[in-house]
Amino acid sequence: MNDDGQKPKTWMKILGFFVIGAAIVLIIVAAVDFFTAIADFGIGGRGPRLFWMFFIAFPMLVAGSLLIKLGSARKNIDGAGGNIVHTGSLSEPPNAAPKKCPYCGRLNPSDALACAGCGANLDK
Ligand SMILES: [Zn+2]
Repeated sequence: MNDDGQKPKTWMKILGFFVIGAAIVLIIVAAVDFFTAIADFGIGGRGPRLFWMFFIAFPMLVAGSLLIKLGSARKNIDGAGGNIVHTGSLSEPPNAAPKKCPYCGRLNPSDALACAGCGANLDK
């Protein structure tokens, strides 16, 4: 009854895969046509007639991947509050000894790229 909005939109995923599959078929057909047309071109052949398929197929690829993203993104959106922890301060590298500047002797943080005192390059 009230389960819509709760489960991920699998139909979006399925549609996305379908669209991408169709786009890949279009690209293959167009590519085969393109290369056979180029191969024939020297012998008075034809131009690539199906080249327009590329222009349909690439937007389809984008649309399909968007659909898949939307179809599977629901959980991530709901649980985004606790998942994104990107401070880096909790897990400091084990080798966190301060760097002593070889020029002025000032102690700099272990991840410092330049001396805070004299500006010398401390990057390895
Ligand atoms: Zn220095």
